[in-house]
Amino acid sequence: MKITLKPLGNIAHEIMEELKNRVGGVFHCPVEMEAEIIDLSQAYNSERKQYLSSKLLACLKKTDQDERVVGIADVDLYVPRLNFVFGEADMASGTAIVSLCRLRQEYYGLTPDENLYLERATKEVVHELGHTFSLGHCHNNKCVMHFSNSLADTDLKEIYFCNKCRPKIII
Ligand SMILES: [Zn+2]
Ligand SMILES: [Zn+2]
Repeated sequence: MKITLKPLGNIAHEIMEELKNRVGGVFHCPVEMEAEIIDLSQAYNSERKQYLSSKLLACLKKTDQDERVVGIADVDLYVPRLNFVFGEADMASGTAIVSLCRLRQEYYGLTPDENLYLERATKEVVHELGHTFSLGHCHNNKCVMHFSNSLADTDLKEIYFCNKCRPKIII
């Protein structure tokens, strides 16, 4: 099994490198980085000033059967009926997408905190990857598979799977 992180658009190289290391530390499998050229504007909704998550997710392609692909976007993502999403996964194809947009302290007018930002990004990536292993949401609020309704939920949980969820990750 390998995980491929694909920056969609302009994501700082250091951020991607750091994310790659942290995600690898959770899954203990090879994590690669590969640029994917996707025209983000096709998913833009000018009324909402946001990007339709499912549309970008559908553009992500896997090359290997046992590969998991996560697109990393810096634009604000949404799905119909929700104000925004931190990410979305497609269990059937083993692909997922995560938005970094709302993970920055600056988004809320707060002082930048790079480590907190990377912690949050790691949790969101690991969470969506968990979905690609058919994991659902977990009741344990420390488990990375706990649903994040807000950043407070994200900050409360850890980057790891709980003892109930972890055995379901077959690598
Ligand atoms: Zn989820
Ligand atoms: Zn769990």
